[in-house]
Amino acid sequence: MTEPLLSVESLDVRYGTSQALFDVSLQVNTGSVTAVLGANGAGKSTLARTVSGLVPAAAGRVLFDGQRVSGRPAQKIRKLGLTYIPEGRGIFPGLSVIDNLRMAVGQEKRSERAGAIDRAITLFPVLGQRRQQRAGSLSGGEQQMLALARALAVPPRLIIADEMSLGLAPIVAESVFQSLSEAARGGITVVLIEQFVHRALALADSCVILTRGRVGWSGPAAEAGQEVLDRYLGEAEQATNSTAV
Ligand code: ATP
Repeated sequence: MTEPLLSVESLDVRYGTSQALFDVSLQVNTGSVTAVLGANGAGKSTLARTVSGLVPAAAGRVLFDGQRVSGRPAQKIRKLGLTYIPEGRGIFPGLSVIDNLRMAVGQEKRSERAGAIDRAITLFPVLGQRRQQRAGSLSGGEQQMLALARALAVPPRLIIADEMSLGLAPIVAESVFQSLSEAARGGITVVLIEQFVHRALALADSCVILTRGRVGWSGPAAEAGQEVLDRYLGEAEQATNSTAV
């Protein structure tokens, strides 16, 4: 068996006195797509933030490519190739599209920055037409493409996409899923935190369901049938079924 790219071991996370994650363990294999599902407040974003170094672990550890990353600063983790696209996109709305891309490649060698920006624009040509436009004035879908372009300009090894489809019309969400799917086909390992449950499962190889801060269920995405979803997502699944799927 190959080593997992990401390994989360017995993770506890607290915000002050309130505990958000309890003994969470999961593994993400290289080249796979893993869907992390759960009701509002189940701890999905907390898991993503902790793995990417934005929130400290109270107990347990996170290994990325066999190296312990828990306790390291977020920027160092990013440099190892783990990129987190936070819910709400993580772009700079007051800056132009091109300046958003420049900032994303700012840590690269000077000689490699222009090439990285060109690569990002090749992925999403619409961004090329909107270079000078303020990012905050783009449509929701275009903003999400910019977030992905920023993440992919310097190809990461693992991308954690937190509710990228939130607030997007289904057809626009579909194109964002397509881009993630292409990134995955290109060899980038993907962790997908999603409200579009069935769409996420269609893309994913594996699935982890968080229930009130604990892993309720994990297994192959193909086995996360309706019975599992009903049992572990309950009302959340019904709500997304009627609105988002
Ligand atoms: P959503 O889908 O609503 O984003 P989620 O599954 O991502 O939910 P989290 O945002 O990780 O869940 O929240 C998990 C728990 O931690 C919730 O009870 C939430 O209220 C709490 N929490 C999240 N962020 C903070 C914070 N900065 N300070 C205190 N508590 C927080």
